[in-house]
Amino acid sequence: MTLLALDRVSRVYAGHRGLFGRARPVRAVDEVSLVLDAGRTLGVVGESGCGKSTTGRIALGLEPPDSGSVRFEGAALPPPNTAAWRRQRARMQLVFQDPLAALDRRLTVAAQIAEPLAIHGIGSGADRAERVAQLLADVGLRPDLGRRHPHELSGGQRQRAVLARALATDPVLLVCDEPVSALDVSIQAQVVNMLLDLQAARGIAMLFISHDLKVVRQVSHEVAVMYLGRVVEQGPADMLFAEPVHPYTQALVSAIPTPGPRRAARIVLAGDPPNPAARPPGCAFHPRCPVAIARCASETPALGHAQDGRLVACHLAATQAPTGIAA
Ligand code: SF4
Repeated sequence: MTLLALDRVSRVYAGHRGLFGRARPVRAVDEVSLVLDAGRTLGVVGESGCGKSTTGRIALGLEPPDSGSVRFEGAALPPPNTAAWRRQRARMQLVFQDPLAALDRRLTVAAQIAEPLAIHGIGSGADRAERVAQLLADVGLRPDLGRRHPHELSGGQRQRAVLARALATDPVLLVCDEPVSALDVSIQAQVVNMLLDLQAARGIAMLFISHDLKVVRQVSHEVAVMYLGRVVEQGPADMLFAEPVHPYTQALVSAIPTPGPRRAARIVLAGDPPNPAARPPGCAFHPRCPVAIARCASETPALGHAQDGRLVACHLAATQAPTGIAA
């Protein structure tokens, strides 16, 4: 069952004006369409500035799209700051990258986990205390840690506290924006495993936004790869990581560290990282694309179905053989 559907959403910001030049608008998100089913995980990957975080904020209704639409549980998102919007926000929560920034340093962890319950008027004081104790246990935090303040916890414990707070209202959707990027690798694995366990137990859907393809591969059923505001490849995670079609996806996947022998050499992209304020004409990836043809500099490829059914935006998608990269 479709839980969340973004239909051709775009978001344009006014650009900064240089010393002599005119401000150029920045298309942070450009005609992005995504579908997330209940209980499933859609990974959204790409380099910094590709529009993945803005897409997540649009999905939650924290930012309005300039065009296109967002539907959650079959209905359009209500206008912000209305009672209907608050009710719906209880069912869709955001997990931030930086847990220290997401938590209030002056309040105890337990008080912050209880906060969404108070905001949404859920339960009595005693009910909330019981619920907080359960949530602490669900995310693997000892009961006494609830009495501490955020700076008294480790990074991993803080991210667990953020997650407990996000789960307080029993959401059906979590938008996780780089949820483990600030953590050590060993703690990352623990938090990722906990997210997977919670998803299995509660049937939560996740929009998992990250630049880390290794983590995205571990958690996602479907993956959308973004480049300069657009989706360039989308499909089942197994298929996309084993045989990426788009040259950008091939480069990203080739850079994932693998323990065994690699089946294909790492593809190192030439040129500068993408600048959303200076989007190249035609295929935005063409200045860095190792297989670009003349047409790529002037004609933007549409996102269309490749031979195996996945979506790819590349003029060569019909002829380009998928690359077997993943070990
Ligand atoms: Fe490369 Fe051209 Fe395909 Fe863009 S459309 S990814 S430049 S081959």
